[in-house]
Amino acid sequence: MVRLVLTFKTYSVSHNLLLDQFFYSYKNILNQMIGDVWNQIQWREKTIRGKKQKRLLPTIPSYSFKKKMRDRYLVGWEYAAHWVDSALKTAFSIINSWKKNYVKGNRKRKKPFVKRCFVRVKQTLMKISGEKIRITIKPHEHVNIDLSKRYFPLKGKIGEPILTPTKLHLPIETSNSEQQRKKRQPAVEQLIGWDSNKFSVDGFSPSHGWIKIDLKPLHTLHVTYDNKMRAINQVYSKNRRKGKQLYRKYGKRCRNRVKNYLQHIAKRIASFPVAQHGFEKLEKQQMNRKHKKRWNRELNQSHWRKLLSLVRNLAPVAEVSPKYTSKNCSRCGELNKALRSERVFECPFCGLRIDRQLNASINIYLRMRGASPRKEWFDATLAGGLPLIEAERSDHDELARGLNDALKPQVYICLPLTT
Ligand SMILES: [Zn+2]
Repeated sequence: MVRLVLTFKTYSVSHNLLLDQFFYSYKNILNQMIGDVWNQIQWREKTIRGKKQKRLLPTIPSYSFKKKMRDRYLVGWEYAAHWVDSALKTAFSIINSWKKNYVKGNRKRKKPFVKRCFVRVKQTLMKISGEKIRITIKPHEHVNIDLSKRYFPLKGKIGEPILTPTKLHLPIETSNSEQQRKKRQPAVEQLIGWDSNKFSVDGFSPSHGWIKIDLKPLHTLHVTYDNKMRAINQVYSKNRRKGKQLYRKYGKRCRNRVKNYLQHIAKRIASFPVAQHGFEKLEKQQMNRKHKKRWNRELNQSHWRKLLSLVRNLAPVAEVSPKYTSKNCSRCGELNKALRSERVFECPFCGLRIDRQLNASINIYLRMRGASPRKEWFDATLAGGLPLIEAERSDHDELARGLNDALKPQVYICLPLTT
């Protein structure tokens, strides 16, 4: 069976209709309906496994009750009858969503109450003609909302809009061409670029956002074994044979534990369902002293090599050029020569402020796609979609709102050390 999934995006337009009385009446019956459904809920006791307490679980009344309610609310209702259906549907969906959360333990056993004014516009109550949407309020009485100043295309299927006292929220099916484009290039949406650092591995993909894998436990491990080795030095100074034995024993143990841990991380990286994982290409010359400054941001080279080869055993890996992945701005592409080892990357050209590791992983992601940084792409993908940029406005050319929010990875992973 082919499942057809329609995806909607909701757009908003302002209006200046004066419908206060109507909104009030709708909210009123909506809360009454919620009350009616609430009173009809049947509660049954369920024992919690392993505990003495019992839990009350709700059963929502059936369709026949809905029908009875409809007839009752239609008496004396001065607006179009379909609004009663709309309120009923909304009341049931509010109760059902309360139930879902209550069963999960996220809500109390308390009747939901609607405070804000809104109405759900059923298909039978609206009609779009040209640049206008016509909504029926009372039988043979309509209002029109002008859509000519909208910023979005009016193509495709339209879902049930929500009307509030000031705005109309219009769900529109995302256009077919967009869906087809996604179908043609499935892999493009499913790549992760990974940047390696001393204390974390940071990944980026538009579908997952910013993924941070913490490597601090690995460093804890090293500190532990460094201390052990120092203690063995004491033994060695007194008894060389015994000392050598202990060095070998603990050196081996440390290597095994590091290897286990890296295997753990590699598995976690490979568990992301993507077509390819992108890493910087390792250059042999990098061990050279000339590249000493790179040591600042590199986790131990040999670890990095090991991790890469472990991931490669588990999932497809792509390697990209490591040139300036940290110093290029992932938004405008300019080279930030002044970047030292600070945590935040600040672009002197476009004003972007972003975590330096996230910046690098976005660059790696872009290189996997063979793409160059573009402001439009960056703003649409990161500013519009993911609340993850620690950036500030610097001038009118700057990014949209929400960018000065403190940034946090969407996915944070810290695997415990195994003993
Ligand atoms: Zn820039």
